[in-house]
Amino acid sequence: MNKLLIATNNNGKILEFQDLLKDSGIELVTPGQINLELEVEEDGPTYAENAGRKAIAFAQASGLISLADDSGLEVDALDGAPGLYSARYSPKPGAKDADRRAFLLENLKDKPRPWTAHFHATVAIASLLGEVQLAEGNCFGEIIPEERGTGGFGYDPIFFIPELGKTMAELDMDEKNRLSHRARAAMNAMPILKKLFGK
Ligand code: IMP
Repeated sequence: MNKLLIATNNNGKILEFQDLLKDSGIELVTPGQINLELEVEEDGPTYAENAGRKAIAFAQASGLISLADDSGLEVDALDGAPGLYSARYSPKPGAKDADRRAFLLENLKDKPRPWTAHFHATVAIASLLGEVQLAEGNCFGEIIPEERGTGGFGYDPIFFIPELGKTMAELDMDEKNRLSHRARAAMNAMPILKKLFGK
């Protein structure tokens, strides 16, 4: 009963949350470990709404307190796109992460650099009573036109962090989890989790 479900089907996010919460003293489970197959429509108007819907749906389906995140990349030269649509940002049917990165670079190619951008994450934690608590995090950097690195997922190979001189995909898990939007949101969620789990 005293377990936290990582309410996502994105393996990259699962690995990050497992690492981010490993010292919390809370037992983590993934949808795969409880044979839970659930897709939640992410067509809400805000990150908070989408994250909350995911967390509530997984909590109801599993009977476990559930933690979901909704995240996205906001590029200033594109007025904040792809934003909420980051996971679906490509005209190609069946598009993969690489197609979405290519589409983003195509849309940016005539815009002056630097292509400043930030990642945003909103984490939602749903209790068994259907109550949702939220925490947020951001990570600032810029988009670069050539891919660098093989770590992470999504837009990581083209998201450059000037202070480190590296893209997100060139960071190991420890480094990414010290500064990413998801890491900051998870850190801000820690007091909520500690209270819910009596830690
Ligand atoms: P969602 O939260 O499931 O809507 O997916 C967010 C999308 O934003 C992902 O599919 C990625 O394309 C992108 N994204 C979110 N976080 C990251 C990250 O840490 N690195 C790279 N891309 C990310």
